[in-house]
Amino acid sequence: MRVAVLSNYESQAVEQKAQLLGTQCQQILDEIAASGYMHGNSSDQVDKLIDQMASLYSGRVILVNSNFRIIKDTYDIDVDKVIISEEVLLTFLGTNSTNYDEENQFLEMTIPTADSETGETDGIMIISVPTLDIANGKAGISRTVFQMQSILVILILGVAFYVSRILTRPFGKITQSLEDVAGVNDEEISIPDYTETQLLAEAYNRMLKRMKAQEDSRQEFVSNVSHELKTPITSMKVLADSLLAQDDVPVELYKEFMTDIAEEIDRENKIITDLLSLVKMDKRSSDVHIEETNINQLIELVLKRLRPIGATRNIELVLESFKPVLAEVDETKLTLAISNLVENGIKYNKEGGWVHVSLNVDNKYFYIKVEDSGIGIPEDSQEHIFERFYRVDKSHSREIGGTGLGLAITRSAVLMHHGAIKVYSREGEGTTFTVRIPLKYVP
Ligand code: ADP
Repeated sequence: MRVAVLSNYESQAVEQKAQLLGTQCQQILDEIAASGYMHGNSSDQVDKLIDQMASLYSGRVILVNSNFRIIKDTYDIDVDKVIISEEVLLTFLGTNSTNYDEENQFLEMTIPTADSETGETDGIMIISVPTLDIANGKAGISRTVFQMQSILVILILGVAFYVSRILTRPFGKITQSLEDVAGVNDEEISIPDYTETQLLAEAYNRMLKRMKAQEDSRQEFVSNVSHELKTPITSMKVLADSLLAQDDVPVELYKEFMTDIAEEIDRENKIITDLLSLVKMDKRSSDVHIEETNINQLIELVLKRLRPIGATRNIELVLESFKPVLAEVDETKLTLAISNLVENGIKYNKEGGWVHVSLNVDNKYFYIKVEDSGIGIPEDSQEHIFERFYRVDKSHSREIGGTGLGLAITRSAVLMHHGAIKVYSREGEGTTFTVRIPLKYVP
């Protein structure tokens, strides 16, 4: 940049100086022509003007006549000498020349003089003037430009440093928070600075929230599991201890207590089986076995298996299927899901009640409806029944062998098939579960 500025300045300054010299010379040229100086006439006026010009510019003025002889030299050293140079010859042929010698810093101009009568070139005036002023100006400008450049560089560096600090600060916060997540601190971050980092922070906070929720739910699940698994064991311990505490226990009491202990063992077993089913449902796709399955047959089988249980309380199980349905499903998981719904229909029913299952299909989904004539679910409990270990009436549910995991398993199975499940219920009247599952499985 500095080189460009300087060469621009220099060429302009030289041009200006040459123009100025040119106009000032014109007066002398007129005087030379009028006086016939080139033809041997002496003229004080011409001498005076030339001397003035030379001293004004601290330069040198030479006049050469048509014989290439120097007739005037303000330095008085080359008078009467012959000068033949390229510039001189060219000037005689009518071409003015202006030469700037940058290295030695002077400007030389050769200008033709014209005969006052014929108008033809009859001599040449050579003016050479030092151009120290241009050099000085150039040095001054060079200094200024250098200073400006230095200030600009410092300014740019300063701004870059400041901006980079502001821009990287939010990332520092995010990094810090990410490190904290690995430890104990799980505070949300707040970054009000820029859209990009703000969006990043928001996404991060959402992730943190989800992680926290997952962690809370995991902890709750673990404590529920421990509690549920401990309950039967506590009962067994109490039963066994009370037998041991007495001497001569009658055989009938032993039998009664042992029956109770066996029931508790069954219960423990059921909880563990349900827990394992639930864990399997939660596992990712590696454990999924999708096959084209006849859904009518699948439901028939479920009902066939459960009919004897229903029969113990005179509960009738009926299937109503409108069309044959073939769908891509995981047979084991879907069987478990439907079994749980029908089992609940029986468990939470009245003596002599019914459970109706219906199957329907359109071009995208198949629909299973499980309707019962049972006790119903209170409205405020309906949103919780799919939660793990949730039971509306703990004692009642326990009495009839519920673990509170059945609907959680069903829901996981349905979601695994990218389906949906809904419940409609009225206390004392009955409950209806509807399940919708796509015919084609999408991994
Ligand atoms: P459980 O093993 O206790 O049956 P579920 O997860 O299958 O657990 O069901 C959760 C709770 O929802 C049950 O304890 C019961 O209170 C209620 N429930 C589920 N299905 C029905 C139904 N068909 N009728 C009435 N209540 C039901």
